[in-house]
Amino acid sequence: MQSPADYHMHTPLCRHAIGEPVEYARRAVELGLTEIGFSDHSPMPREDFDNWRMFDRQLDEYVAKVQLAQKEFPQLTIRLALEVDYLPGHEDWIRKLAARHPWDYFIGSVHYVSDTWDIDNPAKLSEWKKRDAFEVWQLYFDRLAMAAESKLFEIIGHADLPKKFGIRPTQDCTPLYEKFLTAVAKAGCAIELNTAGLRKDCKEIYPSRDLLQLAFAHHVPITFGSDAHAPEEVGLNFAEAVALARSVGYAETLRFHQRQSEVVWL
Ligand SMILES: [Zn+2]
Ligand SMILES: [Zn+2]
Repeated sequence: MQSPADYHMHTPLCRHAIGEPVEYARRAVELGLTEIGFSDHSPMPREDFDNWRMFDRQLDEYVAKVQLAQKEFPQLTIRLALEVDYLPGHEDWIRKLAARHPWDYFIGSVHYVSDTWDIDNPAKLSEWKKRDAFEVWQLYFDRLAMAAESKLFEIIGHADLPKKFGIRPTQDCTPLYEKFLTAVAKAGCAIELNTAGLRKDCKEIYPSRDLLQLAFAHHVPITFGSDAHAPEEVGLNFAEAVALARSVGYAETLRFHQRQSEVVWL
């Protein structure tokens, strides 16, 4: 059985990943993958916004690194993408980024629930102690729905990221998921199965089975990503992710080329 494409991989330009794109590509070939996509963290208008993304002036260098991998591994389909932070008010910035290179897809991710709190940042874990978990989840899923509604993205990243540290609300989150997935379905976005959650405290793929079941009911398409920050993480736990997708009913995944999708049997 052919593994789906790994569409979520980083590069050292984001300042918290190791290994060059050629090394990720080499690993993908070793694993027998036929398609991958680089989706490093998008630059922000301000260089001092945070410390875990490439600078705007490095965008061309990023594209060149991916193109080098494409040249060195012609037997592998390598897509050019970005994991773009969605913050309300950044829409024009994101449109400008989109116009600068021939991207294959954009993953829209919410890491920030305010201008200053990136909820998955281990350096800001103490902030969680000051907050009500359900309120954070509400803020997060509201923004994630806005990300989908913006129609700036082909794929919505790690849909239940707030569970990363294992802090979960006691309330039923189904209404939050429903609202988000209604927006996703209407916008025609996909969501990704992101296996990095298995390597975090939550010990679970993003999104959870519950959320994925609802996504299937809403006819929301899926992609797969390891969120690799090192070459050895490429394609990690994909068998488990495919099994999860199949178990809730999925028989298809999507691939992207120049922001157009194509259905692939799973
Ligand atoms: Zn992310
Ligand atoms: Zn990522």
